[in-house]
Amino acid sequence: MHKALVMEVDACTGCHQCELMCSYGKVGAFNPAKSVMDITLYDGGAVNVPSTCTQCQEAWCMVVCPVEAITVNPSTGAKEVSAEACVGCKVCTIACPFGAINYDPDSGVVTKCDLCGGEPMCVEACPTTALAYVAEDSTGYDKMLRSATLAAGLDAPGA
Ligand code: SF4
Ligand code: SF4
Repeated sequence: MHKALVMEVDACTGCHQCELMCSYGKVGAFNPAKSVMDITLYDGGAVNVPSTCTQCQEAWCMVVCPVEAITVNPSTGAKEVSAEACVGCKVCTIACPFGAINYDPDSGVVTKCDLCGGEPMCVEACPTTALAYVAEDSTGYDKMLRSATLAAGLDAPGA
């Protein structure tokens, strides 16, 4: 069984440690602009919402890529971008309903969460219980949908 990254909005303090470690893992520098884990502030900073790729079962980014640069890692289930294959067309960034794919103008290709090969650095860095990496069937779809909806700036389901 694959594991999944889950986010607990109420436990996030907005310390941004996750963004720093994510960027370090991706580009070797502590630069939140290069992070694919994002903390979005609401209510003047009173609410911090972590968000990243949810590794959709039916991944639209993968479907629309014209050069098949996005593939599934069979050991983690993560949808991974090949920097060698990506041509930087950004079609996947439009297809992703959560805005979870970033175009990097420095490299000319896109980046997204790849679960760090099964050891997510954001989870290691988080000093609270806001981030966890748990069995896929215990993630709580409603909780993830609420976080993703908040991050997208929409009304929370059932609100
Ligand atoms: S930006 Fe890269 S990964 Fe995204 S659709 Fe284009 S070629 Fe595929
Ligand atoms: S490290 Fe944890 S508490 Fe800090 S901003 Fe990220 S998710 Fe929130």
